[in-house]
Amino acid sequence: MKYVKNGKIIMPDGEIEGKVLAFSDTVEGVIDESEIGCFGEGDVIDACCGIVSPGLIDIHIHGYLGEDSSDGSKEGMLRMAKGLIKNGVTAFLPTTMTAPYQQLEKAFDVIRTLKASEVDGAQILGVNAEGPFISPEYKGAHKEDNIKNIDPDFLIRHSDVIRIATVAPERTGALEAIKKVKENTDIVMSMGHTSANYVQAKEGIEAGISLATHLFNAMTPLNHRDPGVAGAALTNENVGCELIADTLHINADLFKMVYILKKDKLILITDCTRAGGLVDGKYDLGGQMITKKGIECRLADGTLAGSALTLNKALYNFRKYTGLKDYEVISLATANPAKIIRDKERGTLEVGKRADVVIFDNNFNAVRTFVGGIEKATDSCL
Ligand SMILES: [Zn+2]
Repeated sequence: MKYVKNGKIIMPDGEIEGKVLAFSDTVEGVIDESEIGCFGEGDVIDACCGIVSPGLIDIHIHGYLGEDSSDGSKEGMLRMAKGLIKNGVTAFLPTTMTAPYQQLEKAFDVIRTLKASEVDGAQILGVNAEGPFISPEYKGAHKEDNIKNIDPDFLIRHSDVIRIATVAPERTGALEAIKKVKENTDIVMSMGHTSANYVQAKEGIEAGISLATHLFNAMTPLNHRDPGVAGAALTNENVGCELIADTLHINADLFKMVYILKKDKLILITDCTRAGGLVDGKYDLGGQMITKKGIECRLADGTLAGSALTLNKALYNFRKYTGLKDYEVISLATANPAKIIRDKERGTLEVGKRADVVIFDNNFNAVRTFVGGIEKATDSCL
């Protein structure tokens, strides 16, 4: 049993101070300090006035520490999982790029195996398949040669491991394909890398799309006469929106507006590439060379290509530019992503949830990270 005292405990609807969070492998409850020991003997942990948060969940992350989900390397995935813990990430969806089926299936196989086991680090919950069913016109950093029309049978075949799939709803046969996938699987269909106009985006939503891949990026923009994919995503209350809060992919002054419109449907992601956590330099992304400089990753022609953002830094940025409270910001990377992938075990510190717990300092640096109640990373003392 573990008892965390002297921290601000983050709950879905507020913050609790002056109390103690008790957890074993699951959350036992929030108690008074005088009740420490009521669930059995255990460690008493001092959060030193930090933030006691649910573990972060990144539903869109390609790589980290030189590794990429599309490589199909078990060792690489495990290295990512271990590295992400230090950012307070306790679960993630390795995200594949547009690639030939054979390569994708190799990556899926690795993720399928790891998904079924407890790994030493952030838990692997399945795949976010970003491509190959996208639009060449809005391909971003995806390789055009490998782009295809939506193949529902491919998604259905791998629906045991794919949790999210990005598609372009304007492509030939897309609406029927989206309906077929929705009828046969639990895959969350997301619109992204798409040239759809507003009407086509709404048809896609009608067919079963419930998420927008990195809002505003690689999609038709919001125009007051043609609201585009961005407008369709922002105005439909059933559609979630991913957002890369690195202040580069979207102007930070828009964070508050998006939050007001989407609230519990807004999900912070990193879209991090293998350059994340490494020094500046040149790296591969889906068969193309990217250059990392500070927080930017770009193709040779200047196109933004994923990021080097960490999810705890995204929280820091979002709070800084919105002035929202800690619990409101933290939900964007905990409760909201859990909800969109229908993960009932994770995302909050409510009694009975898995004890994925992070103690952050007040700048969102992860100091101690627990996965299923077991400590996986400890930074220097608060
Ligand atoms: Zn991506």
